[in-house]
Amino acid sequence: MEELNEPVMIAVERLTKFYGNARAIEDISFSCRRGEIVGFLGPNGAGKTTTMRILTGYLPPTSGVARIAGYNTLTDSLQAREHLGYLPETVPLYREMSVEGYLAYIGRLRRVPNLWERIDEVLDAVGLAERAGSYIGHLSKGMRQRVGLAQAMLHNPEVLILDEPTIGLDPRQVVEVRELIKELGQRHTILLSTHILGEVEQLCDRVIMIIDGHIYADMPTSGLMGPNTVIRLHLASPSRDTARILRSLVGVQDVTNGADGVYHVRYDGGDETRAAIASTAVNASWGLLELTVERPTLESIFLERLREAEQRQAQTMEEEEE
Ligand code: ADP
Repeated sequence: MEELNEPVMIAVERLTKFYGNARAIEDISFSCRRGEIVGFLGPNGAGKTTTMRILTGYLPPTSGVARIAGYNTLTDSLQAREHLGYLPETVPLYREMSVEGYLAYIGRLRRVPNLWERIDEVLDAVGLAERAGSYIGHLSKGMRQRVGLAQAMLHNPEVLILDEPTIGLDPRQVVEVRELIKELGQRHTILLSTHILGEVEQLCDRVIMIIDGHIYADMPTSGLMGPNTVIRLHLASPSRDTARILRSLVGVQDVTNGADGVYHVRYDGGDETRAAIASTAVNASWGLLELTVERPTLESIFLERLREAEQRQAQTMEEEEE
């Protein structure tokens, strides 16, 4: 990959954070290079926000180091912040300010040179040029999110950290904000957290998955789905033997029988197995109404990974006992 020649812009080295006695993250390490859009995924409480807050310099780690563009976020926090734009999950916007008034205020705090030119540029980039004079309190949620992105980009940082950037937006706004992020990703390094699998697939080259304060996976997005695939069969007239017959097909791993003739068939993902499931359903005259390959959700992928990790742990313990 050509990206391997690009400089590391986000570096997290053996990061641990305790809140009192409670461990939020433990011994986390990863890095992101220029031009990468990396998805930062995990169930609620996994430690995403804690990691992002340490990266943005808002929170000191208990141990370990976080660097933005090579600068330690704790000891060189000013330089680190110069290279970083942050979109928190809820952006602290001042509702009684105008869009450009707010950006001017933020820009002066950050000592942005040629401030008014830069404000025009970012308003263009986020598609808000025509709303420059509007009160923030009068904007739709999607537009306010774009003001949040505008403030993150204002000082032209090379690194952007975005916490759930499309949460609470309507479908059209989601499309617009994703297009903007994709475009920004060509020149920046972006770490973004999200709960939406489609968003990850659309935007991210790579995903880092964190569960219970540990990193469980760091891999290309294409590897996220894993080999387990589920087919949903809707049958008008299944027989008592339907689940047993499906289970006996080569490549089928498990069959669960839901209500109203709906069966979930876990299989090896192969086209041959899928074809066999379809022809069996037709030949057995079960009244096939629908056959769909179920798309996993991020939550189901987390659960699957968690189960794998627990199985591995149990296996290691057994081996150690032997
Ligand atoms: P995520 O963003 O993935 O939902 P967080 O980083 O917010 O996860 O939380 C990780 C863990 O740390 C959770 O168990 C959470 O309850 C705990 N935690 C987060 N913030 C604080 C805090 N300020 N004080 C005490 N515990 C916290």
